[in-house]
Amino acid sequence: MTELQQVRYGQVAAPTANWTAEEVRHHFPILARKVHGKPLIYLDNAATSQKPRMVLEALNQYYKRHNANVHRGVHTLAAEATQAFEVARAKVARFINAPSPEQVIFTRGTTEAINLVAYAWGLENLRSGDEIVVTEMEHHSNLVPWHLAARRTGATIKAIPITIDGKLDLDQARQLIGPKTRLVAVAHVSNVLGTINPIEELTALAHARGALVLVDGAQAVPHMPVDVPAMGADFYAFSSHKMCGPTGAGVLYGRRELLEAMPPFLGGGEMISEVYIDRSTYNVLPYKFEAGTPNIAQAIGLGAGVDYLSALGMERIHQVERELVAYAYERMRQVEGLQLYGPGPSERAGLVAFNLPGVHPHDLATFLDQDGIAIRAGHHCAQPLMRALKVQSTARASFYFYNAADEVDALVASLQRAKEYFGHVLG
Ligand code: PMP
Repeated sequence: MTELQQVRYGQVAAPTANWTAEEVRHHFPILARKVHGKPLIYLDNAATSQKPRMVLEALNQYYKRHNANVHRGVHTLAAEATQAFEVARAKVARFINAPSPEQVIFTRGTTEAINLVAYAWGLENLRSGDEIVVTEMEHHSNLVPWHLAARRTGATIKAIPITIDGKLDLDQARQLIGPKTRLVAVAHVSNVLGTINPIEELTALAHARGALVLVDGAQAVPHMPVDVPAMGADFYAFSSHKMCGPTGAGVLYGRRELLEAMPPFLGGGEMISEVYIDRSTYNVLPYKFEAGTPNIAQAIGLGAGVDYLSALGMERIHQVERELVAYAYERMRQVEGLQLYGPGPSERAGLVAFNLPGVHPHDLATFLDQDGIAIRAGHHCAQPLMRALKVQSTARASFYFYNAADEVDALVASLQRAKEYFGHVLG
């Protein structure tokens, strides 16, 4: 039996090896619904992905049959819940090629994972005069934790700028990453530009200067094969909810010796070894960083999401999305006046940020919603990038492997109608 066949797809047959979006979208119950009387066209996957039946069933089964607190009980349900939780961790570890499940720490999401490093590693290791190098295209969740750590330690923050075509300026990176750099914090894939950053080059550069690298993989892990040790990342963060899993779960991967040397982030039950009235010693990895009752169902749901993605194959997912975004980019480029941001389609992940001059992105998104099309509009938690692009905000269509070319056609048709409508209204 192939890995694909072993996976239960609810009532849906397993897809073929060269599956298409049409074949797999039936795994997602929500994609059958209508919005304003029109079939839902969900193009807001960078904000959160939809969930396949298999993940919904994993959550349901957990609560229906196995619900108990983990790690602390000897009864059957506690053992089952603990096993399911730890199996999920092992699945996630394999998915990103982590050497050991102990290096996979469950968090609430990317944001909490980065905060964990900023507090536990940053406050302990940063000093006045040290430098943290970020990039102009970072999400706020890979900026603000460093602001907080810098304020408390006296470290300063520098940013690698972007080029005119929305890529990192590597010449500038070589200048900026220097002997004072302690950490480089960089997105693997930009949530606005879609740029896939050259992480291996950056880790080589940083390590040559004695700096560590934290990679925000929120927009990468859901969409492409990711081998964290191969790219040389010291820390790597991502979220379950963008990769078919539930909200409330995320992952911090860290190099073992770094995690072992770091003090805990939060204190409480589970993360301790011995507790006295005035002091405590700490548990081993990964529990040292998992204080209190974790998001058990969500971690198990993430494990099911990882099973689902693995069964489809991350190479195939990446290929399907590359083809779709290339098509979308070409079609959108033909909409006269539409401003697109970021690199060309061969160098980007499956999303396109854009503006229709004279029309606020919120108005555009509201117009498209009337056609059942869900896109996002705003600053996308990337205000420094908006300043670099000299815009207040953009609209963004972000794809996943279940989106098909006819949905791109519908988007383009709706954008054409919006152009006419707003052209008329704005005179
Ligand atoms: N980084 C990037 C690049 C993102 O796109 C997001 C989510 N929009 C985050 C971090 C934050 O993820 P979360 O809200 O799941 O913590």
